[in-house]
Amino acid sequence: MCGIFGGVLKTGEISPLIYDGLKRLEYRGYDSVGFATIQDGALQVKKDAGRIDDVVQRLKMDSMPGSMGIGHTRWATHGAPEMVNAHPHTDCDGNLAVIHNGVIENFMELKEELLNKGHNFKSRTDTEIIAHLIEEELKGDIALDEAVLKSLRRLEGSYAIAVVSNSDPGKILCARNESPLVIGVSEKGTYCASDVPAMLPYTNKVVYLRNGEFATLDQDGYEIKLVSDGTVVERGLEEVTWSLEMAEKQGYPHFMLKEINEQPTSLRGSLRLQPQYLDLLTTLLDRGRDIFLIAAGTSYHACIAASYMFSRLARITAFPAISSEFIEQYGSSVGVDSVILCVSQSGETYDTLKAIDHARMRAGTVLGVTNSVGSTLTRVARAYIIQQSGPEIGVAATKTFTSQLMVLAQLALRLARMRGKVSQDEGDDFREKLLQVPDVVEETLSRHRDYVKSLVEKYSGERLFVFLGRGISSSTALEARLKLLELSYVPSLAYPAGESKHGPISIIEEGVPVIFVCPRGETRKDIVGSIMEMKARGAVIISVCEEGDREIIGLSDDVIEMPKGIHEILSPIPYVVPLQLFSYYLAVRKGLDPDKPRNLAKSVTVP
Ligand code: GLU
Repeated sequence: MCGIFGGVLKTGEISPLIYDGLKRLEYRGYDSVGFATIQDGALQVKKDAGRIDDVVQRLKMDSMPGSMGIGHTRWATHGAPEMVNAHPHTDCDGNLAVIHNGVIENFMELKEELLNKGHNFKSRTDTEIIAHLIEEELKGDIALDEAVLKSLRRLEGSYAIAVVSNSDPGKILCARNESPLVIGVSEKGTYCASDVPAMLPYTNKVVYLRNGEFATLDQDGYEIKLVSDGTVVERGLEEVTWSLEMAEKQGYPHFMLKEINEQPTSLRGSLRLQPQYLDLLTTLLDRGRDIFLIAAGTSYHACIAASYMFSRLARITAFPAISSEFIEQYGSSVGVDSVILCVSQSGETYDTLKAIDHARMRAGTVLGVTNSVGSTLTRVARAYIIQQSGPEIGVAATKTFTSQLMVLAQLALRLARMRGKVSQDEGDDFREKLLQVPDVVEETLSRHRDYVKSLVEKYSGERLFVFLGRGISSSTALEARLKLLELSYVPSLAYPAGESKHGPISIIEEGVPVIFVCPRGETRKDIVGSIMEMKARGAVIISVCEEGDREIIGLSDDVIEMPKGIHEILSPIPYVVPLQLFSYYLAVRKGLDPDKPRNLAKSVTVP
């Protein structure tokens, strides 16, 4: 998420470089900006919410004095995008400053502990606890780097951090766990950044910090240690040969491909939700007589999947509704017993907000799942969850869809447990499977990248595609088809497979490719019948099924085989991934720009 840039120069002022470095990370998305610099042992911090250019100019941050310092663009996860929550965060006495990308999972308990010790907190972020932890360690009269290391050992969650302190003013201390951090060295000094493009104007000699590593930077270079036990790690610089444009996309040709490949990480982020908010949403959902799941576009497909999750796991009927239809379709029946769970990546989707206004007027309880802290949805919802996927730049949703599913599956499981609809063992087993999903997606990506490309070569001339699935897989089929439509503009249909004989089958003729989504589970038996129906009419069958599923494989012309043992309720998460890749590569094959599909906007804020 968002951006870090820091540097220690031999001579000259660092603040113009921080400004420039953060500008180069602007593409990652952010809501606030802040710098900390040190000159003559004095730490200075300036920060605010807003665009980099505006904030830097208003607060004259590019003329902050000092040859060393750090800068941050924040993409809020804990606490609204306001000045107090912007980074850097300082300790009680303003002697040290910390910037952080990521989420500290155990910040509540650490904050509690630090409050009891008399620390004074200024923000609502998870990050601020790091500054106070280090301050607390320094009371033991140890060196700054030792205090930072000890503090890091207490953190659970994801982080890239950089720390400066007037007690050791020539050094930047940084570390990473899951959020990226790169160190660069030039003749003029040493830099750290969350991504290579920020430092490319100054150096192309970099070293990537790995998970669980800590580094000390000074004007002459860097030293890396393991956070766990302080062992020194020897790792030399490597030369980056990327252009600036390639570097922004971490070497991928498009943001969409980068984001598809980021899904194992974003899904791990979506497993790190704050339990108290999940509990609150679960309690409020449990109280509802009527439950509606409202969304538009891709998020609507997540809601369709959620309706199966809620029913299958928690025995709750939840009606998925398209935001723009909600008022007409269900609006008159909404009342004080209705719970309206709204899913919107941006939290600003116009149609969803209109539906919310209506529901609130009729005293319904509005809940939210969104990727944007501080969005309108978070302000109007009674309770909400941030899905923690990180900013998504590609217009077509990929990682935010799979993260929404991850959040909704966790809600379904909690509801099931709260209502006593799953046994302890069933619940534990499902949770276990949920935790495995990021690894399954990782395996799927590495296994199928090239194979999907070869399928695209084979089918790139087709003028029609049909996507079919049963049960929860019908949501996978709908989403896969939406990606294809959005990116490559190929006319296509998606239906629950059982429905196809009631009309859509009339479109099938010799050679039409039909993509079946068929994981193992309750619906696996019926899908065979649907495949036979399509084959009988000359369709070419492409299946996404479990590896070794001989029957399906035998009936298919082409097969994308998925790892064994995925719970059917969770299958849309990994099963959609090869189909995202298919749409992406087909768009590229047709010479289209997958990052900028025609006529579409990332966040639809108009009626
Ligand atoms: N969790 C931190 C916050 O909300 C860091 C967010 C970020 O990665 O920018 O302030």
